[in-house]
Amino acid sequence: MDRILISACLLGHAVRYDGKGKLLVHPAIDRWREEGRLVTICPEMAGGMAVPRPPAEIENGLTGEDVLDGKARVIEVTGGDVTAEFVAGAERALAFASDNGCTFALLIDGSPSCGSGLIYDGSFAGIKHAGRGVTAALFRRSGIDVFSHRDIDLLAERLRK
Ligand code: SF4
Repeated sequence: MDRILISACLLGHAVRYDGKGKLLVHPAIDRWREEGRLVTICPEMAGGMAVPRPPAEIENGLTGEDVLDGKARVIEVTGGDVTAEFVAGAERALAFASDNGCTFALLIDGSPSCGSGLIYDGSFAGIKHAGRGVTAALFRRSGIDVFSHRDIDLLAERLRK
């Protein structure tokens, strides 16, 4: 059975930087939970980040791939460099996904960790651009099929095939 690594905040867990969750209500979530497909983790908490925490973005309009390659940092709005925590969290999330046999991931978009289509550009001005966060980038490199929460219907379709 294909298992799915899902961002913890999408299940309503209060793990986001603002101390809240971001519950995704969709019949597929209930079905996958009953089928025992869902495995959940918050990569940022796995990397040692606290709740709440300052918002963070990947600097200079760069991407999660650039962070993994050592070409970009993840910076908090307060100026703190949290690159090491974000990379460690991505690596722990990947190990967790592998240990649990996840071949798919459903990740919330926009996050510097979990974003898979859009991320913020590092200006903290609310500007998004195309790109992946650190965890989404590592998952893709490792062969996990990553879907944005906006594409949950596409994932459901893929699992039906
Ligand atoms: Fe949600 Fe991912 Fe951010 Fe954790 S790292 S709060 S799971 S978006």
